[in-house]
Amino acid sequence: MAKARVGLYDTSGEALKRTHLTCPKCGPGTFLAEHGDRRSCGRCGYSESKSPPAPKVKAAKA
Ligand SMILES: [Zn+2]
Repeated sequence: MAKARVGLYDTSGEALKRTHLTCPKCGPGTFLAEHGDRRSCGRCGYSESKSPPAPKVKAAKA
């Protein structure tokens, strides 16, 4: 599954907006790869968990 390395920047706005976080160890210029529930740096191996997604609750329609 070859995946193009695109989408690091969102250029749709006026200013260049980062859509990926930078690695706190490597500093600016190194982006963390987005995974399902975590982010990781392919350079130093740093990884962090994303805040857990909102728990699935039954849509309680009042
Ligand atoms: Zn890193």
